[in-house]
Amino acid sequence: MEVLQSKQDLRNWIRDRRGRERTLVPTMGALHRGHTSLIDLARETTPENDIVATIFVNPTQFGPNEDFDSYPRQLEDDLALCETHGASAVFTPAAGEMYEKDASISIHESALSHRLCGASRPGHFDGVCTVVAKLFLLTQPSAAVFGEKDFQQLAVLRRLVRDLDFPIEIIPGPTVREADGLAMSSRNAYLSEEERAHAPIIFAALSRVSREIAEGRIESPQEAVAELTREIGSAPPARIDYLEIVDSFTLEALTDFKNATPRLLAAVLFGKTRLIDNVGLPALNA
Ligand code: AMP
Repeated sequence: MEVLQSKQDLRNWIRDRRGRERTLVPTMGALHRGHTSLIDLARETTPENDIVATIFVNPTQFGPNEDFDSYPRQLEDDLALCETHGASAVFTPAAGEMYEKDASISIHESALSHRLCGASRPGHFDGVCTVVAKLFLLTQPSAAVFGEKDFQQLAVLRRLVRDLDFPIEIIPGPTVREADGLAMSSRNAYLSEEERAHAPIIFAALSRVSREIAEGRIESPQEAVAELTREIGSAPPARIDYLEIVDSFTLEALTDFKNATPRLLAAVLFGKTRLIDNVGLPALNA
């Protein structure tokens, strides 16, 4: 496995492997089984391709009061995991390598980004779009894998590919969970013992409510949101940021379940740690 730190190293490596296609797996490091499942999925779905993982804590997607400085960094462990899971190369640039000091061009997404996570993280998805577009241009992959854990991000990046004509197949990876259902996240490490003990209530509530929608026992999105609010709100350390039932493609809040493909999305604060999760439902008939 090749470790590439500069854009030039990446370009040289690509040139030397002429004729091979690539699958990109972007991450911010502090890798866990959720991330490595994406490398595994890349190998399974695009077995002919080289797999290029990237590890880059992208400053432009963090707000001024967010955890950019304290975000966990553990490059040696991360590289070992990438190698074990069969990455062909890891691109791990320094921030100064990725961005010119006076960089003045970025990408703005104007339809899906202002709501949900974007409401409390202004500029976040523009930072994500800009860095992912740069990684696409640098790596020139034929496919890229992103986790469903960050469902809004996945929807925004599908738009990026569609609207800017990147010839790249987006492969979604299912959310990997701890044994008690908590979605794996590098930020779970911030939780206190008490917060960690209550955190699985997010997935428990999302699962129960989605089951009851599918069985017809919950009949409206309003009722579903009320149920989620009641159950998740019953955990003492939980402060709800948003709970929404949205259309899986447009991310618009659903007003009814007629012919919908709903996604249940949650963002909940435990202390200072903001956890997100989501579950999907098969398309519902009238
Ligand atoms: P991050 O390092 O948080 O930027 O995440 C890098 C990629 O891993 C993104 O595509 C995430 O959606 C994905 N990811 C993060 N956590 C999980 C998880 N628990 N299961 C599956 N994919 C995940």
